[in-house]
Amino acid sequence: MEGRKRQIAKPKAKKHLFTNYLFCADCGKALWYVHYRKGYVCGNYYKHGKYVCSQHSVKEKELIEVVLTDIRNSAESLNENEIMGRLEVKSQQARKQTEKQIQSLQRRIEKLKEQKTGLIRLLASGTITEIEYKEATESGNAELYSLQEQLKGFQSQQGNKSTGESIARLKKELKQFMKLKELTPEMVHRLVDRIEVQADGSVNIHYKFAATALLTA
Ligand SMILES: [Zn+2]
Repeated sequence: MEGRKRQIAKPKAKKHLFTNYLFCADCGKALWYVHYRKGYVCGNYYKHGKYVCSQHSVKEKELIEVVLTDIRNSAESLNENEIMGRLEVKSQQARKQTEKQIQSLQRRIEKLKEQKTGLIRLLASGTITEIEYKEATESGNAELYSLQEQLKGFQSQQGNKSTGESIARLKKELKQFMKLKELTPEMVHRLVDRIEVQADGSVNIHYKFAATALLTA
C-alpha cells in the first residue's frame, strides 16, 4: 500500500487524470487536457479549430465530482438492491442445471458398468466369443471414459461460485475507494471504461462495474 502512495506522488500522475478516457461525442476524437482551462477539449477542435468540431469543454474538477458521486451511489446500491437477488436466482438456475446434467451422466455411467458385468456373464456362459467380448468392452470403455471426463467438468463447475464472489469483491473494493475521498488514477483505471462528452459539456460515463455488465458477465 505504501509503495502505491509513493507512486502517486510522481509528477504529472494527477494532472491528466482522464487522458485516454474522454472522447468527443460528435467527432469521436480524444479530448485533450488544456492547462489554462483546467479541463479538456475536443482534440480535433483544439488542433483544427471550430470549422472541424466544437469545444466539448469539460472541467476536470467537475468530472471528478461526477465520478465520485457515481461510485458512492453504486457502492451503496450494491448493498441493498436486486442485483444480488437476481444473481442469486441466476446462479441457482445454473446450479440446478449442472446438478441435472451430473445426475444423468451418473446414470449413464452406472448403466455402462452394468453392461460390462453382463458381458462377463455372457462370456462365461459361452453365449459370446472372446473376440465379441473384447470389441464390446473396448467401445464401452471408450464411452465410459468420455462420460467420466464430462462428469469431471460439470463437477468442477459445481464448485465455482465466481459471480457471487466477484460482486462481493467489487462491493468491498468500491467501499475501500470511498474511504480515500479523492479520485486516484488507479481508481479511474479500475472503474472507468470511457467517457463521451457532448457539445454542451455534459458527459456519458461508461463504467466497468455497471450492474448490467455484471449481470451479463
Ligand atoms: Zn469533436
